[in-house]
Amino acid sequence: MFAVTILGNNSAIPTLDRHPTAQIVTCDEQLLLVDCGEGTQLRIAQYRIKRSKIRYIFISHLHGDHYFGLIGLLNTLSLMGRTEPLSVYAPPELEPIIQLQLDCSGTQLHYELSFVPLQPGYSGIILEDKELTVRCFPTQHRISCFGFSFTMQKKKRKLIPEQARAYEIPAAYYGKLQEGADYVRKDGTIVKNDWVTLPPAKGKRYVYCADTIYDTGLLPMLQDADLVYHETTYLHDLETRAAERYHSTTVQAASLAAAAAAKRLLIGHFSSKYTDLQPFLEETRPVFAATDIAEEGVTYYV
Ligand SMILES: [Zn+2]
Repeated sequence: MFAVTILGNNSAIPTLDRHPTAQIVTCDEQLLLVDCGEGTQLRIAQYRIKRSKIRYIFISHLHGDHYFGLIGLLNTLSLMGRTEPLSVYAPPELEPIIQLQLDCSGTQLHYELSFVPLQPGYSGIILEDKELTVRCFPTQHRISCFGFSFTMQKKKRKLIPEQARAYEIPAAYYGKLQEGADYVRKDGTIVKNDWVTLPPAKGKRYVYCADTIYDTGLLPMLQDADLVYHETTYLHDLETRAAERYHSTTVQAASLAAAAAAKRLLIGHFSSKYTDLQPFLEETRPVFAATDIAEEGVTYYV
């Protein structure tokens, strides 16, 4: 399973029904938390997400609506008895911020917490774990900010059971076949791996663009993505304000998704001044039809 669950889709100020940015990316058994706005741990409880399964946390930038929930979550994980290590990928300034909060409260976490600093402007692979690869890339925002690209690539080859049976390969050897091994019969003759397996299915990709001004420089990263999350803090009429604040509008996000030939677009990070989100769809869909509002509590399959 490869999916993203929205925990918060609002910007800046939390409202009673929309919360600051946070998402859970599910990659089979593994959960990744992307940004951690205020109250994220309540959303995790509300949507019955297994917090113990979160192994990696990615913080795009240090505006409060993307990380003010982190210290609370880290503390709760310890109180709940976590012992498995946890890694946080974030701008380097986050580590002393968290450390100060732990020190001042005399809090000792009962698990190993490690920080992986993302230096300004860095672009490249930051994590490769089993079937998952995570890349980060800089976005143009008021402070150093990163987007994250998640690729899930099955590494195992696909077994063709009827072929394997036809060549009389014992079932106990099927695992080896999926890893690409040939089979050597007792008489020394060889059954080539590609006679009985197919290449792994093509990988899928989810790209999270964090906060950003309209930037065609993102296109190479978004090209052909299966699912793109792009912020639409404002509707189209506030294009000037969006640019001044290094944010984007509906039409801008949809144009990028269309230009990148992405398959689907999720929009979020809505300004708190909007109570009705329907106009966001009315403005994006004519430009890029496969657009959805990133609804809190909803899981979108990549
Ligand atoms: Zn921001």
